[in-house]
Amino acid sequence: MATGRGRGWGRVGRGVVDLLFPLTCERCGERVAGGVLCPACGRDRWVIDVACARCTVCGRPWEGEAVAGRAGLGASLVCGRCRGEPPPFCSHRSGLIHGGPVRELIAALKYRRRRELAPHLAAWAWDGWAGVDGELLVPVPLAPSRLRQRGFNQALLLARWAGRRWGVAVEARGIARLEGPPQVGLTRAQRRVNARGRFHIEEEARFQGCRLVVVDDVFTTGATVAALARALLGGGAVAVSVITLAYRE
Ligand SMILES: [Zn+2]
Ligand SMILES: [Zn+2]
Repeated sequence: MATGRGRGWGRVGRGVVDLLFPLTCERCGERVAGGVLCPACGRDRWVIDVACARCTVCGRPWEGEAVAGRAGLGASLVCGRCRGEPPPFCSHRSGLIHGGPVRELIAALKYRRRRELAPHLAAWAWDGWAGVDGELLVPVPLAPSRLRQRGFNQALLLARWAGRRWGVAVEARGIARLEGPPQVGLTRAQRRVNARGRFHIEEEARFQGCRLVVVDDVFTTGATVAALARALLGGGAVAVSVITLAYRE
């Protein structure tokens, strides 16, 4: 997908986004020329620098100390978590850090049904997804009760945006998410157990032989996307990568 990321398209995309943006800052209410935040609310510090050193698998940015300790390893950097317990997906990339305005905007999208924020957040995370490759985007499905309650799946909105920009199809059918308690508030170990077996591939033909990119909003421990990746690989997918808006520590 990296091939479709021309600079010209980036400018056109941003121009359209600017036209659609609300004219006040989401955080402080100041008037803004474009974007969802005014410069004072400082959106840039929540964007992960694409040039920073990161784990090549989960994409988590390295702390300064860890980088110094591993100088010279170059592209083979893999973090302790991924070495200890290799995830089923081959790589994951987030564009943002889940804090400050990013956390507020994602919460507004999900819990105040501000679905119009999805393209703004995706545009903001876009650079962080560079290098991720696949032929079909698969949004993490919501359980039926959650979908009824919210009225939309935020991961599908993000996948549609990315799919249009990348020129890659989105497949939101063929997977069932079983009901169960949400991941919010659980420990890392509890999340893994809670997510296990939660996804059921109903129509394997949709994913068979494909290189997939799973799309979600927030990456915490990766338990949810790992559970979905396992199900998709079991259903015949060749490889699974993951993109999300933001990392939460
Ligand atoms: Zn502001
Ligand atoms: Zn890692």
